[in-house]
Amino acid sequence: MEQRITHACGHEQAHYLTGFASQQDHKARWLTTTKCRSCFITEKKTALADAASRDGAAIAHLDLPPLTGSERQVAWATTVRASRLAALVAEPDAGNTDAFHACRAITDAKWWIDHRDLANTDLLAKAENSICPANIPAELAIPARLHQAT
Ligand SMILES: [Zn+2]
Repeated sequence: MEQRITHACGHEQAHYLTGFASQQDHKARWLTTTKCRSCFITEKKTALADAASRDGAAIAHLDLPPLTGSERQVAWATTVRASRLAALVAEPDAGNTDAFHACRAITDAKWWIDHRDLANTDLLAKAENSICPANIPAELAIPARLHQAT
């Protein structure tokens, strides 16, 4: 049956409670300790926006290259990249390594989405492996025999 519950936030919301009367009472009591749906959603959105702006501030100095992919991939990957790089920047040992710079240089939106759940160390290892030798500027890719000649 439908019951109007006054939530902890002070808002009233209708809930359709099922089960035995004792179960409904229990559920109704529990609901009074929670926030209403709209307060819950607002709070969640605010938390996400806060996290996004924190991440943005943490990586503002990185001067990141634009991502490539479909519009949807880029939008998603932008958030993923920001949160992952912000987490790496916060790690004293990860923020300034070659692997970190490799990671920072990755512009493939799909790469970020595919690897979004990897642990930091795994993400860095993947980034180092993902950098194609062809992308390294010619002047840096000195063939071994030239090394020997000098
Ligand atoms: Zn509310």
